[in-house]
Amino acid sequence: RSKEQSTEKVKAKENKASALSQYTKERALDKEHLYIVVIGHVDAGKSTLMGRLLCDLGEVSQKTLHKYEQESKKIGKQSFMYAWVLDETGEERVRGITMDVGRAQFETKTKKVVILDAPGHADFIPNMITGAGQADVALLVIDATRGEFESGFDFGGQTREHALLVRSLGVSQLAVAVNKLDTSNWSQERFDEITKKLKAFLKQAGFKDSDVTYVPCSGLNGENLVKPPSEPELLKWYKGLCLLDVIDKFSVPDRPISKPLRMSINDVFKGTGSGFCVAGRIENGMISKGDKVIVCPTKEAADVRGVSINDMSSNVAFAGDQVIVTLSGVDMQNVSVGYILSDPVQQVPVTTRFEARIVVFNVKVPITKGYPILIHYQSLVESAHIVKLKAQLNKTTGELVKKKPRVLGNNSVAVVEIEVSKPICIEKYKDVKELGRVMLRVAGVTIAAGLVTDIMST
Ligand code: GDP
Repeated sequence: RSKEQSTEKVKAKENKASALSQYTKERALDKEHLYIVVIGHVDAGKSTLMGRLLCDLGEVSQKTLHKYEQESKKIGKQSFMYAWVLDETGEERVRGITMDVGRAQFETKTKKVVILDAPGHADFIPNMITGAGQADVALLVIDATRGEFESGFDFGGQTREHALLVRSLGVSQLAVAVNKLDTSNWSQERFDEITKKLKAFLKQAGFKDSDVTYVPCSGLNGENLVKPPSEPELLKWYKGLCLLDVIDKFSVPDRPISKPLRMSINDVFKGTGSGFCVAGRIENGMISKGDKVIVCPTKEAADVRGVSINDMSSNVAFAGDQVIVTLSGVDMQNVSVGYILSDPVQQVPVTTRFEARIVVFNVKVPITKGYPILIHYQSLVESAHIVKLKAQLNKTTGELVKKKPRVLGNNSVAVVEIEVSKPICIEKYKDVKELGRVMLRVAGVTIAAGLVTDIMST
């Protein structure tokens, strides 16, 4: 029997190796995948811009567009037709806001881009977190309209918070759409005024100048989105790329396909055949039909009965892929959203205590020892406490300002220790980026975001 097992193991290894070489060949021909999160103040024009971009790239059928046009006329909000492209339900349409992280894709010359849409409404921040936690890069949309930029940026608007949020979640490349510039008659002066302010702020927030590109545009008119400008006033002074080409220039982070398997689960459901299904994203490694995996943090073994990508059975999937996996050998009741499928040998760390470097940006009551929070990452939400304030750091240089600070107020950067009410799967940011970015929330508000720097054994 043990002989049988060892030949099985050898076979499995061979299958993996051949899958890997097939992967390298296939994907070398394919475009690289890039995940982008769209951020910015409410009404900055995010949905309109992304909707228009998708339409201009031919990702939306004429029939659908026509339907949206008719419907938007009916309720007297014609300008919303593009925004609807990203929205799904009638309820959202009537309210004129985007509620969920809508998923849409488009292609540039060298990339396949997946949009993780981030609505600007304060109550929908949890959705934006899901988006930001998965993003490789971000698109910050700014309303250039006189008065609007100022209120979104200076007076408690979400522009600053969103930018800090994505940066503290490890996103370092940014495209800034200086949108609705039609309202200022494509004035270069207005563009320069806005970019000057943003540059100073973004630098302070930790973005390198060379990683940020500013693009004057209008989502509503489709100006400078997918092709060079046609507006005479803009042509007079703008010599840069259109938004699509700026996105094309982003560099794609490495997809760690040869590291041990980590798949985060964001849905669990009954499939059609035997077993049940989990949906999620492969953060690290690869998964194939026939694999044995460990469901964590509960550490139960399960068998992979099938793997599909985009509803197509594929048998094998790799880091960066969104997949549905059919499992057996474990009870569906024992698997939850926020769990991780892990490599059986090199398992994901499970703990109730970890250390993180956080940026605090929105607390009403300053953080002190024992502060209760909810921690969020990927699809996991768990109650927790900040049990130790270890050090306060300089915001730009990262140097130590104070050991064991007693309180942490807004805009501080600090190293803290967090204790979670239940064991969770977590990784250091340097090991698995996607499982090492956390958000801290209190009473529906995101108060801080950070990176996991250490994991305590419990
Ligand atoms: P979101 O909340 O950021 O998704 O913003 P929306 O896409 O819903 O747009 C907010 C409002 O701004 C709507 O009334 C749009 O018609 C308007 N809008 C969007 N883009 C532009 C633009 O480029 N120019 C002008 N003048 N208005 C725009």
